Amino acid sequence: MISALNIEKNFDKLEVLKGVSLEVFKGEVVAVIGPSGSGKSTFLRCLNRLEMIDGGSITIEGDELVSTTAEGKVAYAEESQARMICRRMGMVFQQFNLFPHLTVLENVIEAPLTVKGVKKDEIIPVAKELLGKVGLLDKLDCYPSRLSGGQKQRVAIARALAMNPDIMLFDEPTSALDPELTGEVLKAMRQLAEEHMTMIVVTHEMSFAREVANRVIFMDKGEIVEQGDPEAVFGDPKQQRTQAFLNHMS
Ligand code: ATP
Ligand code: MG
Repeated sequence: MISALNIEKNFDKLEVLKGVSLEVFKGEVVAVIGPSGSGKSTFLRCLNRLEMIDGGSITIEGDELVSTTAEGKVAYAEESQARMICRRMGMVFQQFNLFPHLTVLENVIEAPLTVKGVKKDEIIPVAKELLGKVGLLDKLDCYPSRLSGGQKQRVAIARALAMNPDIMLFDEPTSALDPELTGEVLKAMRQLAEEHMTMIVVTHEMSFAREVANRVIFMDKGEIVEQGDPEAVFGDPKQQRTQAFLNHMS
């Protein structure tokens, strides 16, 4: 589904990703954990071309987004092809990034209308169904300023799903929320996992990672230090750095 090989990313002289490789299979939920600054967000952003890589290759559902030649030359797919590939991935950020001047329903239908050219009367029922799933049918006509953080984030999830992605990328979707609001967002994500959506979730929610993920990746200093099924990584971490991080988190 997703194959990222030896991804390197530098910001000037700072090596943020030092050869990160990750394969994610269809229907898998992968949680990415690790200290602040370890490169988790950057890695997600590289997958959908919000950041350009400096080395390595990324293939999404068999289509090559970017590759690197033996001489070290990075080559991206041609623009329309790259855009088509990245459109298969929906992303939800820590900050919800809703359009403030659009209602909840308008936020959800905006990209299908403008990017995909879907007809309005086709997408509105889809949007309503998605908003129903995340428990927001009663908020269709509200503007984002009238919503709680948890509600905004659920709109953001519905909005990403409205593009009918094959893969969902989540970058700490609950870390900007008050603790009492995280549960409702995690519930929406858990439901998505149960429907076998392929997901990569960067999270500080260890219990979510433990209960929902099929695999946990621990990143530190631009590398994947350890990975495995949640019980192995949380219950019996092999690497000293993983142990230190988990001790610190608990
Ligand atoms: P956190 O848990 O705090 O979100 P993270 O693991 O997501 O951390 P990244 O945001 O990927 O970490 O950042 C990794 C490193 O790259 C950090 O040192 C950060 O300062 C640096 N970095 C990230 N984005 C940029 C940028 N656009 N320009 C320069 N440096 C950046
Ligand atoms: Mg981050």
